[in-house]
Amino acid sequence: MREPLALLFLVIGAGVLGWVVGRRRARHPLNSGVAPHLLPDPALEWLRRAHRAIGVWVSELNPGEEGPRAERILEPERLSISQIVAVDRRLERARDQEQSGAERMDGGMLVFHSQAGAAVGLLLPEKFEAGGLGTVEDDLRRLLEGVRRRPHFVALTQAHSQEASLESVGSVGLRLAYQLERSLDAQVVVAAVENGNVRVIGVSGRGDRRLLDSLLPLHSELARVALGTSESHVSSTDPLGGVVADRRHRGGSVLLLPLKKDLKSVGAVAIWLATGREPSGSTRAEMMEAIYNAAPRIDRALEADRHKRAASIDPLTGLHNRRGFEEAFTLITAREGALVYSDLDRFKNLNDTLGHPAGDAALVHFARIIREQIRTGDVAGRIGGEEFAVWLPETGLELGARIAERIRLKLATTPWDWQGRPWPLSASFGVAACPETSRSLDNLPAQADSALYLAKRGGRNRVERAGR
Ligand code: GH3
Ligand code: MG
Ligand code: MG
Repeated sequence: MREPLALLFLVIGAGVLGWVVGRRRARHPLNSGVAPHLLPDPALEWLRRAHRAIGVWVSELNPGEEGPRAERILEPERLSISQIVAVDRRLERARDQEQSGAERMDGGMLVFHSQAGAAVGLLLPEKFEAGGLGTVEDDLRRLLEGVRRRPHFVALTQAHSQEASLESVGSVGLRLAYQLERSLDAQVVVAAVENGNVRVIGVSGRGDRRLLDSLLPLHSELARVALGTSESHVSSTDPLGGVVADRRHRGGSVLLLPLKKDLKSVGAVAIWLATGREPSGSTRAEMMEAIYNAAPRIDRALEADRHKRAASIDPLTGLHNRRGFEEAFTLITAREGALVYSDLDRFKNLNDTLGHPAGDAALVHFARIIREQIRTGDVAGRIGGEEFAVWLPETGLELGARIAERIRLKLATTPWDWQGRPWPLSASFGVAACPETSRSLDNLPAQADSALYLAKRGGRNRVERAGR
């Protein structure tokens, strides 16, 4: 997204800036904190200042948009509303009739230029240097050229941002951390707000990699800035709330800045200031640009994660749904492992006796037991009403059957009640494994299903292995 914006910046701004710098006529120092994202405002403002104009006008007809677009930057105290409106109208007419020229108006001298549905104008004070009119016209022509090419750049920028939506949260976080480390020569941690939690999504090269993915205590300073409950500030204590034992003894002051998409807090960055002083000048501009640039991308990536989650997670139990489980199973890199299918016994009876909400509570209870009995890296899903599946990568048939047995026993021996009424729960299990029961992973689901059927037929509350 940087390149087209930079290009846009160049097209609209460079001519103006070049003029300003080249002639050393800028009385006011340029604000180095302005980022190209603010375009075209800074270019317009620079143009206004360079010519000591009262205001700058842009008026465009955009075929793709609902109506004409107008922008103006002016010193409000120097013009009345009716004077402003008069210039608006005059410029619209110039735009529609493709007129260029200079015209004395109530309030100043309007110099304007127009072409192909766009017009730009500068309102100069009554006492302007007539000799400078040529450069004013040159600059207006360059501005007009930039304005006319802008839709093209906007389209390019949007194409880039759509592409950016494919980025993961982690990739944006890491890139931002490294980018800031490079330009500020400082250690950087980036955090994002996810379902009310604040998670570390980026750690720069010099940072402590163990921080990556950890959840920050919500009272920590970085979490508070990320959540928007605290403003940006410089901290002299550990802003991460001691989430990992800090052996590197960073010390010093830490600049904490929010990442915001419009007014929404999406995260925050912590920057360990090597000099103890906040960055200024062009370094600060670069830092702010990196942050403005990353915030909407993080927001989009978080949104994409939420959608993906909603499509692949069973809201009742928090396990994968069938789609999520199959996706995880087909995406696995392990070529060997055990697949366990499980189905609650006589579940219809429970539903009919205690009611559907009781059935739902039992499903949540069983899901929790499954989750507790497996390792990270194993994948568990609720693949049907009261049917569950567990994929155990790099696990042989015997170990797979033992894990299934462990889950079965835990369910059968953990007391469960519905509103004070005890109810015995049990489930049946079928286990298949590659390579023991099948050379190919593709056959495992059918094999696990047959084994489960055997377990049901054999009296329920038991584990059966495939291929018997
Ligand atoms: P078996 O031991 O042979 O598995 O008997 P069963 O009663 O468990 O088997 P069956 O497949 O006949 O019944 C499954 C029942 O699970 C039917 C349905 O009422 C219930 N069920 C399926 N999905 C849900 C759900 O999301 N919530 C609740 N409460 N019940 C569900
Ligand atoms: Mg059942
Ligand atoms: Mg069933």
